[in-house]
Amino acid sequence: MWQYFMPTKIFFSQKVVEKNKEVFKNFGKMALIVTGRTSSRINGSLNDIESVLRSLSIEFYTYDKIEENPTFEQIRQAVKELESYSFDFVIGVGGGSPLDSAKAIAVLLKNRSLSVEDLYDVSKYTSSLPIIAIPTTSGTGSEVTQYSVLTDDTGFKRGFAHDLIFPTVALIDPLYTMSMSVSLTRSTGLDALCHAVEGFLSKRATPISDLYAVESMRLIKQNLPRALEDQKDFEARAAMSFASCLAGMVISQTSTTLAHVLGYPLSTFKGIRHGDATAAFLDVVVQAAQDEVPHKVDKIREIFGDIRKFIEAADLEIKLQMSDEELEKWTRRVLTAKHMQWTRGTFDESTIRRIYERMRAN
Ligand code: NAP
Ligand code: ZN
Repeated sequence: MWQYFMPTKIFFSQKVVEKNKEVFKNFGKMALIVTGRTSSRINGSLNDIESVLRSLSIEFYTYDKIEENPTFEQIRQAVKELESYSFDFVIGVGGGSPLDSAKAIAVLLKNRSLSVEDLYDVSKYTSSLPIIAIPTTSGTGSEVTQYSVLTDDTGFKRGFAHDLIFPTVALIDPLYTMSMSVSLTRSTGLDALCHAVEGFLSKRATPISDLYAVESMRLIKQNLPRALEDQKDFEARAAMSFASCLAGMVISQTSTTLAHVLGYPLSTFKGIRHGDATAAFLDVVVQAAQDEVPHKVDKIREIFGDIRKFIEAADLEIKLQMSDEELEKWTRRVLTAKHMQWTRGTFDESTIRRIYERMRAN
């Protein structure tokens, strides 16, 4: 038995915002734009959106204070600043951080009595402002997922999932990703890779998610090295935007698994970018699946050869100072994460601790 649900309408092209400006008309008269501090001004996305809204006489307010790995507190601050306005819809533009924040803010502005914590109890809300997602990185796939990942008040990342926060429309323009640095290209590309591989091996994988996962892996194998070598290679950038979107559709069906949950504390406590932090653990997930789904592990090997070497060739090596206390706290956290139910293989406390110890520098 399997099912498929991914309700986001996707538009994919160069100049996608200008070419599809009619899309915005159906959403109403007052838009909230949610974005980060600088990059959307540099890559042209914010200017494109604001010009199109002006040309359609749609009013807008631009909230540009979203930071990497958005926290509960930052979402509370945003809602406080925005709650006196009456918005018809929300446009998230930027990397996964602004997109995920836009989703949380869209629910909270529609349901004024909810707190950020309430977002995690899906029985507490049945409506959201509609969301348009415009990614400027090629990694998270958040433009086509029902997830928003926020950092809670204790510093741990926690995702909430609700069908209401699938964006109504995703407008994907690979041109916006051309301004990504080598390191951002690597971390976002590796994030997409982790989504495709973890989703492919997830116990929730379906025939459709597998099709998307294999194509996404194939595209990443061919195009991530190209995009890293020449940041002006538009074809490679466009292929990575497509691969990331496909991988997002994969995790919308399968969720992510162990590599993601292992990587979360590296981002929030050690400042390692999400994709790098996750990819550092990807080979663990692949090895653990060997006995249960050998044909899938063979497929990954057929595409990448040794996936660890592919990741290392992107210049990823993480060594960290970690206290014993951190090691214990992170290990306990991983063991209780819901991602574990969908991860193949068996992992107990000592295995998880050993995995973290592998990257310990002290
Ligand atoms: P990000 O955290 O959104 O942004 C990282 C940095 O990249 C920021 O400094 C940002 O600048 C900059 N940036 C964005 N687009 C750029 C461009 N085109 N050129 C140059 N710089 C650019 O990065 P991300 O990797 O896309 O997102 C990671 C977040 O997504 C994490 O919080 C992760 O947990 C979450 N995530 C969510 C899902 C999901 O399904 N919802 C899946 C995976 C990951 P500004 O500060 O100016 O914006
Ligand atoms: Zn991810």
